[in-house]
Amino acid sequence: MSVVLEVKGLTKMFGKRAAVNKASFEVNSGEVFGFLGPNGAGKTTAIKVIMGFLSPDEGEVIINGTNVQKNYEAAMENIGGIVENPEMYRELSGRKNLEMYARIHNNVPKGRIEEVLRIVGMENRADEKIKKYSLGMRQRICLAQALLHRPNLLILDEPTNGLDPAGIKELRDILKHLAHEENVAVMVSSHMLAEMELMCDRVGIINNGKILGIMPIDELLHKTSGDSCYHIKTNDSAACSELLEASYGSGSVKLIDGNSLELSVSEAEVPSVVRLLTENGFDIFNVSPAENSLEDAFISITGGGNSIA
Ligand code: ATP
Repeated sequence: MSVVLEVKGLTKMFGKRAAVNKASFEVNSGEVFGFLGPNGAGKTTAIKVIMGFLSPDEGEVIINGTNVQKNYEAAMENIGGIVENPEMYRELSGRKNLEMYARIHNNVPKGRIEEVLRIVGMENRADEKIKKYSLGMRQRICLAQALLHRPNLLILDEPTNGLDPAGIKELRDILKHLAHEENVAVMVSSHMLAEMELMCDRVGIINNGKILGIMPIDELLHKTSGDSCYHIKTNDSAACSELLEASYGSGSVKLIDGNSLELSVSEAEVPSVVRLLTENGFDIFNVSPAENSLEDAFISITGGGNSIA
């Protein structure tokens, strides 16, 4: 893993308001980095500065060791991005659109169009007109276009917007493949917690222009756990709850439904919990660590001021 994108103390003002406020983070080769924050947090603005569409008021952006503001063309050589969905020629096929974009870049070898079509899973539909494509298919052609010149940094602003669950999964698989198998540094912004959880290796949380935390996704999920919490599936959770409350205190037990409950205990106490329940005649079907949702973690980090979908 090596650092591909470095964002250092980035500030972008709109009038007196900082849309991005001293933001610093890095994106490495081989990872999907999630840029997570609610609407208006500053994600698009930060991405536009990173891609050189806007100039920063403070700070710098370095891509593959080259400063975007000082040496724009060299810095852009190895970056592929989708910010606002690019215009495509609707009357032309996906393949023809890619051929036109390939001409803009000087050194796209002949076979590369086939390669990118394969990467995004569009090789069998490439000759149909863009206007016949679904949104997900158009997105995949946009992605193919962004990959034409083999960038080692891919930046996508809210790429799953408008996609159905199947389209989201396909995109997720493509981005993970690019990062994990082809060593591309992938940065994806989103306001969707569940999506980030499945797609990203690390996340940076942004709110009101400020980076509130950067961490591996697993760490974020466990961030609010403190004392371990276990999910227990049983034949009679109400009766189990009573028994457990007597031993572990009422605050440590949460009844979920007729067959499940959550219990806050340490891992060392789990065997005695299971013994207590089975010795009292209850059936235990499953005991598993209850993971905190990204939403819990987000609320704990932001203080709950702003919500995320
Ligand atoms: P969304 O998910 O809604 O796109 P975002 O996290 O991408 O949100 P931005 O679009 O970067 O957020 O907006 C950050 C802040 O900057 C918002 O308060 C927005 O209103 C403001 N802003 C963005 N672009 C401009 C502009 N061109 N002029 C003035 N203010 C702007």
